[in-house]
Amino acid sequence: MEKSTQYNVFDMAQKQFNRCAELLELDHITREFLKVPMREYQFSLPVLMDNGDPIILRSFLVQYNDARGPTKGGVRFHPAETIDTIRALGMWMTWKCAINNLPLGGSSSGVVCDPHLFTASEQERICRGFVRKIAHLTGPDWDVLGPDIMTSPQYMLWMLDEYETIHGKKYPGFITGKPIHHAGSKGRKEAPGYGAMVILREVLNEMGKDITKTRASFQGFGMVGQHAAQLYHQMGGVIACIGCWNHKDRTAYSFVKKDGIDFDQLVSITNEFGEIDKQKALDFGYECLPGDDWLAQDVDILVPAALENQIRQDNENRISIRVKIIVEAANGPTDLDIDPILNDRGIMVIPDILANSGGVICSYFEQVQGNMNYFWPREEVLSKIDSQITSAYFDVSNFAHSYQVSLRDASYMLAIDRVARACHERNWI
Ligand code: NAD
Repeated sequence: MEKSTQYNVFDMAQKQFNRCAELLELDHITREFLKVPMREYQFSLPVLMDNGDPIILRSFLVQYNDARGPTKGGVRFHPAETIDTIRALGMWMTWKCAINNLPLGGSSSGVVCDPHLFTASEQERICRGFVRKIAHLTGPDWDVLGPDIMTSPQYMLWMLDEYETIHGKKYPGFITGKPIHHAGSKGRKEAPGYGAMVILREVLNEMGKDITKTRASFQGFGMVGQHAAQLYHQMGGVIACIGCWNHKDRTAYSFVKKDGIDFDQLVSITNEFGEIDKQKALDFGYECLPGDDWLAQDVDILVPAALENQIRQDNENRISIRVKIIVEAANGPTDLDIDPILNDRGIMVIPDILANSGGVICSYFEQVQGNMNYFWPREEVLSKIDSQITSAYFDVSNFAHSYQVSLRDASYMLAIDRVARACHERNWI
């Protein structure tokens, strides 16, 4: 779970914004407006421990831009969370919704904590305490929450319950990623990883490559990484390596099996935080390599699905010459400064704001189903995500070909243009 302390992810997000604003020739005032959040809040969050002692946690809420509709964003629980990460996530969510033409803006929120260190009742009090801070700043028509790193469907339900208790009414549209029998959407767990692999399928088709002849290495085996790996495996790809965090050893490991990983077996020894049991993996014959080694495997495809800033100037040279595609299933996994290097190496990067947008597409479907109080079968949800994200991919890919820019620049340019237009049409700027 370690994050670099020097690296500022919001600086990176703004840098990318500035680059694309320049390419779009956006006027000065629009740039000034879009490069920072519209609203942001920071809270001290007192939480009672089981032994009766209170602790104080920090928490954040950033509502980045709502020109296109109510904001939507994930809630993260992470010990190294910062207001700048939450700002960056809010900005990226704004672009994600716009790329997919969803009637939503972008937000993000988080609590600085490590859920591993708390009992279930303490975790529940953190969720409920957080909602008490934000209950009058969020809601189905204003800002809708959802899952992100280390926040499960159970957390979503506790948060919903607290919100409904405060407002004295049922509001299933307050939060997405809920358990299925509590107005959650089928397919929500799978959605971000599933969407990323749908785009990979299209990219491989365009390249004329047979997925069954490819090998991939994944970093992260939580909600996103696990479902991305599952669909890749179902489509016939060979999973060569999975990297994840080990809470007990306070380090990351990469699990490798020469002939490919047995997906179901690995899932059976993975906990709710996406951490693979090292001893059981060794017993099953996996090699356990250092955390960074997921990047250095002899594979065609890399799928970062854990944290920001994992592919950088100091480790890019470890990527095998065989790698031709990086699917950014995580948010912000690649340092932007190495985009030109990856491009020179002939590696195609499917950017995060497009690749993992299956999550917010499904959250939007969860809201729609909740509003109708009519829920769709899983296959229908997944097939709707497939057509929505495939169409977003072709919008981006056609734009990239027409303007001779990378998929990353094309994604940002399309999204920024749509959000800027919405702000102008409302006469905000
Ligand atoms: P998660 O908490 O379910 O899983 C995180 C995974 O990353 C776990 O397997 C964990 O062991 C691993 N990990 C953590 N630190 C690591 C490290 N230092 N080295 C290697 N592995 C490490 O989180 P998630 O929901 O799967 O989110 C993963 C990424 O996807 C994040 O960037 C998140 O913002 C992004 N994302 C999540 C969603 C969503 O709906 N959950 C949607 C879109 C994007």
